[in-house]
Amino acid sequence: MPVLNRVAALQPEIAAWRRDIHAHPELLFDVHRTAGVVARKLKDFGCDEVVTGIGKTGVVGVIRGRREAAAGRPAAVGLRADMDALPLEEQSDLPYRSTAPGRMHACGHDGHTAMLLGAAKYLADTRNFAGTAVLIFQPAEEGGGGGREMVKEGLMDRFGVEEVYAMHNMPGLPVGEFAIRPGPMLASADRIIIEIEGLGGHAAKPDLCVDTVLVGAQLVSQIQSIVARSVDPLDSAVVSICTFQAGTASNIIPQTARLTGTARTLSAPVRDLVEKRLAEIVEGTARLYGARALLTYNRDYPVVRNHEHQTTFAASVAQEIAGPDKVNTQVRPMMGAEDFSFMLEARPGAFIFLGNGNTAGLHHPAYNFDDEAIPAGVSYFARIVERAMPA
Ligand SMILES: [Zn+2]
Ligand SMILES: [Zn+2]
Repeated sequence: MPVLNRVAALQPEIAAWRRDIHAHPELLFDVHRTAGVVARKLKDFGCDEVVTGIGKTGVVGVIRGRREAAAGRPAAVGLRADMDALPLEEQSDLPYRSTAPGRMHACGHDGHTAMLLGAAKYLADTRNFAGTAVLIFQPAEEGGGGGREMVKEGLMDRFGVEEVYAMHNMPGLPVGEFAIRPGPMLASADRIIIEIEGLGGHAAKPDLCVDTVLVGAQLVSQIQSIVARSVDPLDSAVVSICTFQAGTASNIIPQTARLTGTARTLSAPVRDLVEKRLAEIVEGTARLYGARALLTYNRDYPVVRNHEHQTTFAASVAQEIAGPDKVNTQVRPMMGAEDFSFMLEARPGAFIFLGNGNTAGLHHPAYNFDDEAIPAGVSYFARIVERAMPA
């Protein structure tokens, strides 16, 4: 069965919602307009419950099927979309380009939100399932942990969610195709901050100073030994130092220096190892040069780990819509991150990629979500509900 006919007919309407959201991008938890639009539409569609303000600006729509949940089936299935944009100046002459300077929907969350709204409209009209569909619209996916906040505020228990599914568009994957894998699909993302304190002074008298530039430079290269020499070659990790701030003039040895970066891994033991080695290298290197250094290691997003059973199910739903040869069920994991990971830690579920075709990459100023992907994405969400909880 290809995309649902009824969903295909909704495509122009859903694309119009998407373009409206695209023109009004909002950041992190400040998605008041978007959340307002979402809540209003969910009410218009006839959702049984619409709850706002979960995880600050998150919105949840509840749709009850035509029957109570069947024994041996989940009583409620959660579907998640994200609503936030990025602090980036859009490069486009689209008629619906961003109206907010320095902000744009460069990750396609406008498309995710519109597609989940489309699924809500379809599910509220048809109710061809037994149990409850829980539509989750989260803020602050781009670094703010909106998913974590919603889970912390009891999202799963409050709505009885037993399984949870999410989708992200993927440039480079043809429109109408899907990609997924069981186990780790996206990496954990942790923030590294290293503050170095030495002894500043005249550049011509380095013997009287403790040079924080030298300590920082040593740290940048020592840290590369973590992936090269501490992590099992068959495991994956990235440690990138991305800023190095020190000094004010070419003849002053600076008193302090500051490095920041990110660490990505695909498993908890490797994550622990990277943190431990970083701490040892920072401490040891600073001591070697008589400096002091403080490591702050912030664990931001855990690994997006797809659950085996729900991944097989999600892949079969995608195959039903796209055709069996249009679903890659063993896509390579990526070292990007997603805070849907918090929902997957709370409940079993799966995260899938939806093809966005040959567009600019995610987070690029010329990126745009492809509205042609809408029928496949909406059908996927709708069929997840109908097949996980058949009427
Ligand atoms: Zn993003
Ligand atoms: Zn995204």
